[in-house]
Amino acid sequence: MAAARDLQQLARDHLWLHFSRLGEYAAGAELPVIVRGDGCHLEDSAGRRYLDGLSGLFAVQIGYSHGEEIGAAAAAQMRELPFYTNWSYAHPRSIELAAEIAELAPEGLNRVFFVSGGSEAVEAAWKLAREYHGSRGERRWKAISRNYAYHGTTMGALSITGVAGLRTPFEPLVPSVAHLSDTSRYRRPEGESEEAFTALLVAELEQAILREDPETVAMVILEPVQNSGGAITPPRGYFAGVREVCDRYGVLLCADEVICGFGRLGDWFGSERYGIRPDLITCAKGLSSAYASIGALIAADHVAAPFLEGEAMFTHGMTFGGHPVQSAIALANIEIMRRERVVENVAANRDDFHRTLAQLLDIGIVGDLRGDGYFWALELVRDKETKEPFSDDEAEWLLRGLISRRVFEAGLICRADDRGEPAVQVAPPLIAGQAEFDEIVGILGEVLTEADTALRRSGGGVDFADPRSS
Ligand code: PLP
Repeated sequence: MAAARDLQQLARDHLWLHFSRLGEYAAGAELPVIVRGDGCHLEDSAGRRYLDGLSGLFAVQIGYSHGEEIGAAAAAQMRELPFYTNWSYAHPRSIELAAEIAELAPEGLNRVFFVSGGSEAVEAAWKLAREYHGSRGERRWKAISRNYAYHGTTMGALSITGVAGLRTPFEPLVPSVAHLSDTSRYRRPEGESEEAFTALLVAELEQAILREDPETVAMVILEPVQNSGGAITPPRGYFAGVREVCDRYGVLLCADEVICGFGRLGDWFGSERYGIRPDLITCAKGLSSAYASIGALIAADHVAAPFLEGEAMFTHGMTFGGHPVQSAIALANIEIMRRERVVENVAANRDDFHRTLAQLLDIGIVGDLRGDGYFWALELVRDKETKEPFSDDEAEWLLRGLISRRVFEAGLICRADDRGEPAVQVAPPLIAGQAEFDEIVGILGEVLTEADTALRRSGGGVDFADPRSS
């Protein structure tokens, strides 16, 4: 195995990191190389330990200590049947996993189509929605999602994604996606009631469907709690209103639960927590706690029904969908989640997590704290009173220059997100408890206070080029 120093060089020479500015490493910055994990913690190649306040990427529900058990399940499957496909054939593990997911999913969602990850699940959802309408003699193809929402990077999923900076380099995208307002109440006019905000958002959806022509709209796709933009929760009554509008115009409602699914909010699915009653659910990450690259599209019985008749089929598939080893890993993960009562742990501790994080609201630049379960974000503002946002330069300095670096140096992995207003995201493994909450808040408290002090000392006029000017 390559030594730590060799790994740095080999990575510089050969590894293409995702969504990363490789120039920083080419210029000599040390690449973080994570070599092992246990519980909620990780260790890098220099022996430094980190609390993983992001669960990998919102994915490692059970933490990092179950490699032996899950590895044994994977090895047993390797011995028995290392691969077969779900393309015209079945095998025991994907059958068992489909049944397990159907049992955990909200009532009426019983049909599972396996894919390799979240983007593929979203692609499959959009294609299934189109073909479902086709099977009923309608030609509908459009999708509706929300601004800032992240739904993946393949061309269909990217077209649904509402983050301008991710879309623009690849335009023209798949046409016919409309984007709605996000549901954050933070910058809504003072005095506006939650009900009034909900009514506005639901009316906006209806207007979008009417504008697009209802007979052409196949699917509305929304996360229960929207990650990008900073753990944006829905206002009361939002999903009931969305469901009603979708029903009125015959549009399928897909809950993108790639993050919220498998316990993140304290229920197996966010759809239960928010009473969404979706026709489709996309999931990935937590399905295997990211020990395998497996995702799924879960369809309601009435959506699957046309495909169970005559010569009909869903004209879609991938070699690795429902891979037996990946399915065995996901089954082992779900068994561990059940046995260790991981979802119950989130439900029991989410209020304490919220209370602990709320201490950070005392810091000048922390404008808002929002989220649910083990899925929270702090929106950062230049002026708490006026909610004045940071300029792009300031946000860059604050997030990339200072917070990301200092937090990591202090031993915490979390995310400084600039896809909407600047936000710090925290989403620890679902096994975390008060000790981890305190560790997160201790480190974030120090770093955010440091950032706040630097801004105030300079009257806002920090040297953006040099994060060390703080
Ligand atoms: N949908 C949502 C809500 C996500 O958060 C993500 C990834 O973070 C995706 C889809 C895409 O998943 P993947 O990265 O597995 O393709």
